[in-house]
Amino acid sequence: MKNHQIDVRVTRSKRKTIRMTVNSDGSVSVEAPHTLTKEQIMDMIEGKKAWMMSKIKQRLSAGNCYNEPKGVKGEAFSYLGRESQLTLLKCDKGNTSVAVKNGQLMVKHHTHETGEILGVIENWYRQQTKQEVEFWLKYYQSQFETKPNRIVIKAQRRRWGSCSSKNNLNFNWRLSMMPAWIISYIVLHELCHFEEMNHSPIFWQAVERRMPEYNKAKVWLKENGHRFLPE
Ligand SMILES: [Zn+2]
Repeated sequence: MKNHQIDVRVTRSKRKTIRMTVNSDGSVSVEAPHTLTKEQIMDMIEGKKAWMMSKIKQRLSAGNCYNEPKGVKGEAFSYLGRESQLTLLKCDKGNTSVAVKNGQLMVKHHTHETGEILGVIENWYRQQTKQEVEFWLKYYQSQFETKPNRIVIKAQRRRWGSCSSKNNLNFNWRLSMMPAWIISYIVLHELCHFEEMNHSPIFWQAVERRMPEYNKAKVWLKENGHRFLPE
């Protein structure tokens, strides 16, 4: 990013609308429908320049991107707040495995097709998140009278967890990308909704009683949470 010059790559596709993606290296990919003229595309890119600059800045300051892994060898993945480089290994069909070892996320799968690999990794994150959530639920349960009815690991786009009036708890599958102390705060936060279904001062007192330093987690999430969420 020099002098507000943006590296834009335009490709044509069968899409009906134009699509712009800011890549982790700060370049921009544009997929444009065949129906648009070159001038129209350039106009649209120009109109989106401010948006692109803010995205590029965000990307470059976040370092490696966590939220849009492309499944390419060497891509950074975060697990419990630590970054691992993806290493792909081949194995027989049915012997798929994922493990974190020496700063590497080792994925063994019979094909290295990007979509499949991302599916394998998401599945693994879901399992890790379920384990982490269950651990913290157990840890805090004795401090609550109500027990969760159902625990679901979900693909939530904008939130980390939620609690329904029927005492069902939902958690974002990306949770295990973040440090354990953040996960513990999110689990505790949702449990406290058993006592207060809102974010009133009484609710925050309930959180503080069990986690006196909860505000550090709140600040951390405000500053870093977006890096782990999808666009
Ligand atoms: Zn809440």
